[in-house]
Amino acid sequence: MSEKDYSITKTIRQRTMPLPEETMAFLSGIAADYARVKVCVYERYSGIRSLENLASVFDIQTDMRHCGLREQLNLPSVYYELAVREAVTDIRGMWGMVKNRIRACVAVNEGLSANDRMYVRTILKLDAFYAAVLTGRKHPMPEKAEGLALDVKRLDNLIRRLTRRFRKKPAAGQADNFAVSPAGYAYREGQLFLVSRTRRKRVALPLKDQKTSGRQIRIFVRENYADIAIPLETRVKRHRDFCNTIFVHLGFHCMCTLSSGAVYGEDLGTLSAAKTERLTEKNRGRSRMREKYRESLAAGDHKKAAAIEANNLGHASYDRQKQRERARLETYINTEINRMLAAEKPARIVVTKPITAGRSLSKNRPANRKLTGSLQGYVRKRLAEKCSTNSVALEEINSRDTGFVCSACGAQGERRKELFYCGACGYAGAAAVNAARNIENKYNSENGKVMHVRE
Ligand SMILES: [Zn+2]
Repeated sequence: MSEKDYSITKTIRQRTMPLPEETMAFLSGIAADYARVKVCVYERYSGIRSLENLASVFDIQTDMRHCGLREQLNLPSVYYELAVREAVTDIRGMWGMVKNRIRACVAVNEGLSANDRMYVRTILKLDAFYAAVLTGRKHPMPEKAEGLALDVKRLDNLIRRLTRRFRKKPAAGQADNFAVSPAGYAYREGQLFLVSRTRRKRVALPLKDQKTSGRQIRIFVRENYADIAIPLETRVKRHRDFCNTIFVHLGFHCMCTLSSGAVYGEDLGTLSAAKTERLTEKNRGRSRMREKYRESLAAGDHKKAAAIEANNLGHASYDRQKQRERARLETYINTEINRMLAAEKPARIVVTKPITAGRSLSKNRPANRKLTGSLQGYVRKRLAEKCSTNSVALEEINSRDTGFVCSACGAQGERRKELFYCGACGYAGAAAVNAARNIENKYNSENGKVMHVRE
């Protein structure tokens, strides 16, 4: 079905539960030492004399392994080695930036000939030559510039001067995160175990979800929890047989209604209402218990009050149920989107832009947050993700004139709950289908096609 698959790496975030002070102190300590190691590498290897050594991270790692810093900090290798490597990458980035700025200067310097510019660009490309120029060593002429009449002394001076102007040690940055190699962590029973400073002792970070990784991860130390960045390989599939364009109305009741009349996720509304119903029922029970709790306290029965508090008013069970309900709905949404892709084989999906209270997404934060937190937001998010991993184009058009206009004749019609009725031509049908047909008409007329006239 698919051919020439390739993959993209996405970074996903995972959050820990609130962590005890001791664990937070451990994480902050590792982050601080990680930053110290990086600063030390910057000090040692960001100078002009180290430019040539940067070619081999391996050599630098060997040097750093034997310089005594690791032992002095008592920082486990799984963190130490990555800090060294990260710092080398930063230094290389700094040099890349310096070279870019020199190239930009040279390009607009009118005192230079075309050959002069070529010479400077060639030197910048070859680190061995560049290093020789910077340290004032004699160097042979690069092959490309051989035989040209150049004032090499003047040009080398220019390179040195510009380098001095632009080179700076990479900044230490915030010491609030660190990377861990796979050897430094393990998962067990919903917890992430990190190598600690004590041999064989691991520090447990209870996680909010079940995601795991087998690659290098990064820990961000927050106020009383941590965020974990996990690289995730996602396969992108190309489906040769996906060549249709489908027009989809996204609804609260039926998830996806197509202009062809096909519906996917027709139980979304029912399932979502049932979920709300069950949670409301649970809440009713909880408020009855809260009442009893207050009565017991008023009557001086502290023992009973404490029992109620422990057994009936905890958040754990309620949160678990809420999470279960949400997971059930999400599974349903994902299954139905998959079913739609498999059955419709679309190369392109056209939907309307989400309606936000503000004019743009950034201007009305609370309304947008509500939208993305909602089920509709989740449907849109998953649809976009599944489109990108299946090489399906997702187009959003403005929703104006897709709701109350008749898709058969273009007159203003009436909506009665889930039904649409047109007084002008007598068209009657599901409001969602009418909307999807309007999306199709609008998309086609905007893209130069003749509006499809239906009987
Ligand atoms: Zn009509």
